[in-house]
Amino acid sequence: MLTIAIDGPAAAGKGTLSRKIAETYGFYHLDTGLTYRATAKALVDAGLPLDDEAVAAEAARRVELAGLDRTVLSRHEIGEAASKIAVMPAVRRALVEAQRAFAKRAPGTVLDGRDIGTVVCPDAAVKLYVTASAEVRARRRYDEIIAGGGVADYDGVLADVITRDQRDMGRADSPLKPADDAHLLDTSEMSIEAAFSAARAIIDAALGR
Ligand code: C5P
Repeated sequence: MLTIAIDGPAAAGKGTLSRKIAETYGFYHLDTGLTYRATAKALVDAGLPLDDEAVAAEAARRVELAGLDRTVLSRHEIGEAASKIAVMPAVRRALVEAQRAFAKRAPGTVLDGRDIGTVVCPDAAVKLYVTASAEVRARRRYDEIIAGGGVADYDGVLADVITRDQRDMGRADSPLKPADDAHLLDTSEMSIEAAFSAARAIIDAALGR
């Protein structure tokens, strides 16, 4: 089945880009970050610890892809908790299994995350690695929080972005890194429209369209 793999660090714009790509090509989309977030939220809601691998893996096995709600799971604290349980191999095994099953849907799928091109779908037809400087990503995240009526300070958001990068890139199991055959897309200086056009050109060329 035709799969487009989109990886990159937190707040690089992968989510918006992936949704637009899926819509354009008529493919199913899975934001795999939501599977880690749903696992973390289930633990927090049940008052369970975030550092017990067996307990976290059990929560991961119960995650239903159909029930993932981006609005409910978007909170910054949930993202932080998600990146803590995402270092656990047993949690990753459970979620990757569900993600691979999703990737088989016809006529095609777009999966975005950290390890799609390297681990989940190494045979994906097209791999994009979407990135932007930590400052630009922190600014986008900050603007999003403020626009949503929230309170934030830019330096705090930047510090969180840097810590999350270190955790995602530094873990032993499936660290965030571009696949050898990924196309790099740095969106630091790009609007979402420009990033989308660039992504489309790469995908069309790769699919021979
Ligand atoms: O992309 P998002 O910010 O929603 O992901 C939350 C966390 O889940 C990431 O910081 C990362 O630690 C983890 N994650 C992962 N592998 C993926 C997707 C997300 O480890 N494929």
